[in-house]
Amino acid sequence: MNPGPIALGHVCDAHLARHDAETLALALLQHGARVGVVHWATGLKSTVLAGWYRQLHGRAPPRGPLPDSAGSMIRTRTEHAAASLFGVVYAEHRRDGAIGRMIDPHGLVRAYELYLALIDGPHAGVLGINQAWIVARDLRAGLAAIAWCPACEARYIAMRDAILIGCPLCALYARAGGRASPRRAEHRDATSR
Ligand SMILES: [Zn+2]
Repeated sequence: MNPGPIALGHVCDAHLARHDAETLALALLQHGARVGVVHWATGLKSTVLAGWYRQLHGRAPPRGPLPDSAGSMIRTRTEHAAASLFGVVYAEHRRDGAIGRMIDPHGLVRAYELYLALIDGPHAGVLGINQAWIVARDLRAGLAAIAWCPACEARYIAMRDAILIGCPLCALYARAGGRASPRRAEHRDATSR
């Protein structure tokens, strides 16, 4: 950010901050973020944000509470794998240190857009941005952590108080008829699969 002339510094900074908040708000709203999440991330007025949501999506913004935690929200291994992919990307892109105890909302948007690119765009079963925000919040709060699977060597989200324990990729692989551990499989003779 350019500091600008000293006499106008405050004005410019305020304008830039405002512009930055509005750009961030629009990016979040375009992805379908809840007004409450966008208000938290940008500090812009909820009534203004609700109007923008209506303009972007042609309907009123949804209401009602978001899930308390990633652990209560993620109920299937497919959702767990999606949350893990986002969580790993976000962990690489967040700048928590720069803004103290907060989640990094710019990092959230960058990581979410990269996540969408990795899975080849939005489709059914994709992690929504509000769910992504909950994952980011839980990672920040220590309610979730990035774990490492010694069997398939993937990183995944381990959530406190979750129904789903262990690596989602190994679980999906086993469900699809694969062996639970590719490493163990290396030591076996080839069978029918
Ligand atoms: Zn695994």
